Amino acid sequence: MPILLTFMVLAACALSYRIWQKQKLRQRLLKASLSDSERNIVVEQVPLIRRLPPELTAKLEGKIRLFLHQVDISGCNGLEVTDGIRLSIAAQACLLIVNSDDWYKNLRTILVYPSAFKSITTTHDGFVVQQKEVIRYGESWSRGPVILSWEHSQRGAENEYDGHNVVLHEFAHQLDDLSGNTNGVPLLKKNQSFAQWERVFLTSYERHLQNVEQGRKTLLDAYGAENHQEFFAVAVEVFFEKPAQLQKDEPEFYAQIAELLKLNPAQWS
Ligand SMILES: [Zn+2]
Repeated sequence: MPILLTFMVLAACALSYRIWQKQKLRQRLLKASLSDSERNIVVEQVPLIRRLPPELTAKLEGKIRLFLHQVDISGCNGLEVTDGIRLSIAAQACLLIVNSDDWYKNLRTILVYPSAFKSITTTHDGFVVQQKEVIRYGESWSRGPVILSWEHSQRGAENEYDGHNVVLHEFAHQLDDLSGNTNGVPLLKKNQSFAQWERVFLTSYERHLQNVEQGRKTLLDAYGAENHQEFFAVAVEVFFEKPAQLQKDEPEFYAQIAELLKLNPAQWS
């Protein structure tokens, strides 16, 4: 056998072996569970987890294990990343994907600030480019890191019924981005059609926009009126924290998100 061909066969074997090893590790982590102390931390930090049906709790624990193996969580501005911070963020991120095949395959880094942080936004108006400093509680970069304020992440998780949760919000953007664009159209499931998602989504979005413009009180945060991707992210927050109300006010939209995530929190105890 010519040397080049031998080399190519060996390289292909080595690559296959690496892929097999990675898949094996992934399966092992997905079947792993948390220790009693880790489980207590998760429930303490994210009380919403207590409402999960038992069959989903085991799935969540395996996904938390895999998530923490894949993603590096680093503290900024002197924040020390504790088990509480790691488990709280991982549990909330994995809650969105606990019962679906979706995975944050592009995410490797989460940066956590002690509190709100400064960020630079760039706007383009013709040839004029403007940069502005803004204060944020969270950010999700396309194919890039998620950045969080721990103070607001912790507060969002503690108040499980107020419809505001910055971690769920930013990971809704990550989920949305798996389609290649963060635009309010995530990768739909096999039994969902784009036409129906678009119709239901736009109907709810337009209604929200009008309510916000007319100063009416809205179930979803007014920030959702910014654009489609923000509307999707604030809807996911409410889907988990005020599911019965969302199902009552926007039954078709609720059903679409429930099908997307393969979850029905309105039925959780
Ligand atoms: Zn957002």
